[in-house]
Amino acid sequence: RREPLGAGQLEQALCQAADVDAQMEQLVGLLELSEGERRLRHLLVTLFQEVFSEFFPGCAVLPFGSSVNGFDAHGCDLDLLLDLEPTKSLQTSARGAPGAGSSGDPGAEESILSDIDLASASPPEVLELVAAVLRRCVPGVRRVRAVPTARRPVVKFSHKQSGLAGDISIDNRLALHNTQFLRLCGEADKRVRPLVYAVRLWAKQQGLAGNPAGGGPLLTNYALTLLVLFFLQTRSPLVLPTVARLRELAGDEDRVVVAGWDCSFPRDAALLEPSANSESPSSLLAEFFRVFGDFDFSGQVVSLREGRALPLPEVGEPFKLGSLNLQDPFELSHNVAANVNEKTASRLGRCCRAAAKYCRSLQYCRKSTKGRGWGLARLFQPGAVEPGAGAGSFLISIPLAATRPPEQLCEEPGGCGFKEICAAIAFVLRDVLQCGCAPGKPQKQVGGSGAEQSLPEDPALGEEPRGDAAGLEEEPLQPPVGSKRPQPDGTDSAALPGAKRPRVNGPEEEEVAASWSCAVWHRVWTGRRRLRRQLLHGASPEEPDGDPLELEQKVSEAIVQHEGAARPPEPLLRFEASARLAGGTQREPRVLLRLAPSPAPGPLFRDFFHFLQAFLPSALRRHLGWGPGAAP
Ligand code: ATP
Ligand code: MG
Repeated sequence: RREPLGAGQLEQALCQAADVDAQMEQLVGLLELSEGERRLRHLLVTLFQEVFSEFFPGCAVLPFGSSVNGFDAHGCDLDLLLDLEPTKSLQTSARGAPGAGSSGDPGAEESILSDIDLASASPPEVLELVAAVLRRCVPGVRRVRAVPTARRPVVKFSHKQSGLAGDISIDNRLALHNTQFLRLCGEADKRVRPLVYAVRLWAKQQGLAGNPAGGGPLLTNYALTLLVLFFLQTRSPLVLPTVARLRELAGDEDRVVVAGWDCSFPRDAALLEPSANSESPSSLLAEFFRVFGDFDFSGQVVSLREGRALPLPEVGEPFKLGSLNLQDPFELSHNVAANVNEKTASRLGRCCRAAAKYCRSLQYCRKSTKGRGWGLARLFQPGAVEPGAGAGSFLISIPLAATRPPEQLCEEPGGCGFKEICAAIAFVLRDVLQCGCAPGKPQKQVGGSGAEQSLPEDPALGEEPRGDAAGLEEEPLQPPVGSKRPQPDGTDSAALPGAKRPRVNGPEEEEVAASWSCAVWHRVWTGRRRLRRQLLHGASPEEPDGDPLELEQKVSEAIVQHEGAARPPEPLLRFEASARLAGGTQREPRVLLRLAPSPAPGPLFRDFFHFLQAFLPSALRRHLGWGPGAAP
């Protein structure tokens, strides 16, 4: 089993390439499955087929999704369809035959089919049966769990020896065809795969995509891929044909209707007309960000069938309109992005704008001569292409208004509660998340620029107008109207390591800043939701006076216990954290928390960062007594 590329390895490899087009090509090679990994998947499918055939004579186990759609990556999940239609037919004919049950289909004799009538069984019953077979009869299979409530019910599993995670669906034939469609598009033009790989990795690093089967508010990889394919249908001249055009090109053998939806398209890419478009992959990537940075996601419907954005009235019921409307290419009533919430949709727009802006800079187009991240390498660092983020550091922006009610904002000494927020940040890191968190060196930050002074490697980037791409750009702090000049408030300095006096007016004055040296010893960001549920199960409702973060503390403790309480010899992650106030006359005041990992950030740090980005503001709100359930 090949491990995903380690910390910084991918970026390091990309930085060696000659230009961004070469980086994109290289990215595919670095991420795609090796021959060995493909063989392993094939063996697993064969194993599943053998076992299931014993219980469900005639059934077929068919892979779909990333294992076979041409957009595979190391460690991607194994999506399988268990086709029970042939088994149902066999069962029906066996039941109808004289002496049914004992002298019907010989394969059925030892099968569990005598116990259950597949044709009349409910999906949850069939799913439980599949789960039981997996648990008891497939060697190496672990963590089997039926999820009957999903839009497409599945049984989840993992496989010990290969380390693969997978899903088995029992009723999703459309998936086989949309997988073939993705595969066809990847083969139709050699720019498609590099572009999809680049957008997928970018979106993952930005925390925009990655929900398995649309279970949360993020885009699934399927949805994201469709967005890229749509973009390629709208270039002039077009890079990919529309689905309607593909239907015209389909031969008789390609004509398929599934569940009433026309899935006809050529299965062989050689039958397609070559594209007359000559844009390079790197300029297509930049254009992708430009187009979707300025796209009205909620006011129209992305249609791959027609290769254009449809006005809302053109798409009738039962299409579920939402913050992002993306029509499935075949199941036209399905919004593939129906799970995406308003926050994610608007963040997608913001992140695209920031990426588009970065793609206009010299750092995108020109290889760094100083050994710094450039091109894709820098694009993939979360936060790095957002204005205000220093190279290799990651920003979390916490609006003060999100931590306390407006009337408390600036009426207190100490700079709008900044010290209190810093103490709360330290509390969350140290006590709630069980991280090492020692006072760091006080940081001298003058004029609100801090580390960003050294940001632009190329003058062109420094000259870029400071747009509002991610809401993270900084201006010198101005006190909101009616605020008092903050005073030192005598807070315990241990609670506010490295704290400085507030700067309010002139850029020559020092800005409030606090810093910590942090170490993360355990994967406290994984499996929290499940542990939370377990801990809540059977527990009495939270004491009204109890610490609202007590449960979160217990969750972290459970993770630490599970990992074997003793600290590993080395922490998983180390980073310097610093907090300071930012704001201005036109922007709301906020605390900017900068995390600077060392050594260079890898996937583990990114996972932690994305978790903290979501966790910290709500934890602070609850700790400071203004969270849900707490009196404002
Ligand atoms: P990953 O590496 O994330 O597994 P993938 O290429 O397998 O990537 P998925 O998002 O897992 O992509 O999608 C696999 C299949 O699941 C798709 O081919 C599609 O049939 C189905 N699917 C995924 N997301 C959706 C969705 N939002 N709506 C409908 N079907 C979906
Ligand atoms: Mg998948």
